[in-house]
Amino acid sequence: MTETQNFDKTSLLRLAFKGLTEDELQEMATVSQLCSYPPEHILCREGAYEDIFYIIADGSAVISKNISEEDGERILRIAGKGDLVGEMALIQNAPRSATVRTLTDFTALEMGKKDFETLLSRSPSMALNIIRTTLDRMLSNDQLAIQELQNTNKVLRQLDRNKLEFIQVAAHELRTPLTVLKGYVNLLSTFPAIKETPALGQVMDGITKGADRMHEVVNTMLDATRIGNETLKISAVPVPLKRIFIELSGDFVKAAAERNIELIVEQDPNTPSINADPSLIQKALVHLMVNAIKYTPDGGKVIFRSRPVTLENNAQGVELSVTDTGIGLDAEHHELVFEKFYQVGDVAIHSSGKTSFKGGGPGLGLAIVRGVARAHGGKVWVESSGHDEVNFPGCTFYLQLPIDPPKPLA
Ligand code: ATP
Ligand code: MG
Repeated sequence: MTETQNFDKTSLLRLAFKGLTEDELQEMATVSQLCSYPPEHILCREGAYEDIFYIIADGSAVISKNISEEDGERILRIAGKGDLVGEMALIQNAPRSATVRTLTDFTALEMGKKDFETLLSRSPSMALNIIRTTLDRMLSNDQLAIQELQNTNKVLRQLDRNKLEFIQVAAHELRTPLTVLKGYVNLLSTFPAIKETPALGQVMDGITKGADRMHEVVNTMLDATRIGNETLKISAVPVPLKRIFIELSGDFVKAAAERNIELIVEQDPNTPSINADPSLIQKALVHLMVNAIKYTPDGGKVIFRSRPVTLENNAQGVELSVTDTGIGLDAEHHELVFEKFYQVGDVAIHSSGKTSFKGGGPGLGLAIVRGVARAHGGKVWVESSGHDEVNFPGCTFYLQLPIDPPKPLA
């Protein structure tokens, strides 16, 4: 780097810091040096503690940030004449938040933090002006970032819609041949040759179970497209939760017994009936129950509770919860598990049964539960101290619903 002779530092400083007096600009010029760099020179390195800031006199530099190992580096902006880079180093003792690399032959006025601070301590009005300019620049950078985020969100929403449409088409296309297949399997099982040969009967059972499971997955896909749609309308009727609870736990007695899991129902006797869509409420509870059994090892417990509650908006409601003594869930996944297709861990090592320990699934159950909760003006969340396949801390999933769903949705 070299100091370039006869360069008018004050006119560049005037461009960068509006509102400073000529004396203040002169003073600033005395503590700044003009330096030149070739292209591809790193001026600031993300993560490093450096205390120089630059006012670009000539050339341009790219400012980029490392997003993640997967997504690599992202360009934030290209800076040119009159722009400041590395100005955060003047205000806070933090590592560089981005990397700045020269793109062309490059000249900048440089100032060290110490010189800058000495200068500021002599003139509070200058300090104020500089900080104002620096904050203005940071604000306009923020606005650019917000704009970019809004655009990205728009694209993501569209991609999400495309994904839902794809699932819908795929599920419809799979359902027709599956129905044909099930029809023929039923017909085949009536053939005397099959009835009289136990080995063939077992094969037919296997095919029937496989086809039924596929049918369930296809239906879950269709539910996810319908319930994931924000415009879902519900037709509310009185739903006797206490009875639904008993019926539902009855449906799971066999699956739980096969895995030696104890099913416990604890209902507060004051649990009220709610006005809701019974089939949607049932679907949501089934998904929570299947998960609780699926992620609990043999010999564990699943507790199904209901109680009346006052909701956040002071309306009366109910809280339904499913507690298990299973593998638990780390805090980082507590929100994300409610996204469509989100699964924790290696999906490839899942076993295939619906309620077998860590059995597979498309990852749509909890997205459906959240869709049902939202459509009724309620909410769902999970509490767990973390994932642990030795001590099995378990999870509790809570579903809160108002007694009356919000009017516009009903
Ligand atoms: P699907 O429900 O579509 O058959 P899935 O069960 O994998 O498939 P979700 O019900 O949406 O999908 O659950 C998402 C993920 O959340 C699961 O893959 C699992 O990792 C985690 N999870 C859900 N319930 C529990 C639970 N009770 N204990 C531990 N982890 C759970
Ligand atoms: Mg599930």
